[in-house]
Amino acid sequence: MNKKYIFSVVSCLTISLLAAQRDWDAVQIKTEKVADDIYCLFGSGGNIGLAIGQDYAYLIDDQFAPLSEKIIAAVRKVTDRPIRFLVNTHWHGDHVGGNENFAKGGTVIVAHEAVRKRMSSPHKRGDREMPASTYVALPKVTYADQLTFHLDSLRTMRVMHVNPSHTDGDSYIYFPESNVIHMGDNFANGGYPYIDLNSGGDIDGFIRNHNMVLFLIDDETRIIPGHGPVTNRSRLMAYRDMLVTIRTRVKSAKASGNSLEEALAMGLTKEWDAEFGQGFIDPTEIVTSIYRSLD
Ligand SMILES: [Zn+2]
Repeated sequence: MNKKYIFSVVSCLTISLLAAQRDWDAVQIKTEKVADDIYCLFGSGGNIGLAIGQDYAYLIDDQFAPLSEKIIAAVRKVTDRPIRFLVNTHWHGDHVGGNENFAKGGTVIVAHEAVRKRMSSPHKRGDREMPASTYVALPKVTYADQLTFHLDSLRTMRVMHVNPSHTDGDSYIYFPESNVIHMGDNFANGGYPYIDLNSGGDIDGFIRNHNMVLFLIDDETRIIPGHGPVTNRSRLMAYRDMLVTIRTRVKSAKASGNSLEEALAMGLTKEWDAEFGQGFIDPTEIVTSIYRSLD
């Protein structure tokens, strides 16, 4: 084996190891104004909501721990109010990864009670075993159905538990006076949804929740999705229609006695694969999870 060959093997290994780890230094937090005193912060992981109230700043989700300082710096560019409350839309690591850092800085973490329950003990994400979170990282305030924050004398931030869909602890955060809603990972704008069956996920819950939101909001509402750009009602309606069609197809394939492998060979998602099937959830994964969700 000559030296040049060894060098190229070593450098390939180094490059693939580096690629496997995220390059946190390269991540930049971009801030988009969504409405008066409401912003969306994009970095790496779930989209962060920022609301500025009379006394405090309020965050929705916190991405990954190595990004906390950058997230705080981005918040400081728009407000000097203390980040007093932080709501987790659900327990996944790309939404709660900064909890410990924020809690140590005096922020109170709030979430649905199922989020705290899952984070409190070892649990599965896909095939991966996730350890229990430290007490510091856990939500300190939990709720069962809904919770209202009063941002000032006029504006509110309503946190509502929705039907199990992405997980069984999903919250929507709605700002009725500002006409903004953060839907967490119930809406991955630009990708097929992740139905986390190990966390109580359910395709029918996605569709029910989308129908509820379409009823609640209007054409002017700004929707902050869990991932992807800020969007609107017509985009959510098209997404809901896509999910209804795919679910109907998978359901009838299954009812006709087709195995999962046979259903996967039918091209049940082909119209949308180019747009929605290139990311985290590919066409095989979405058909598999819907097929299993219908058990
Ligand atoms: Zn998620």
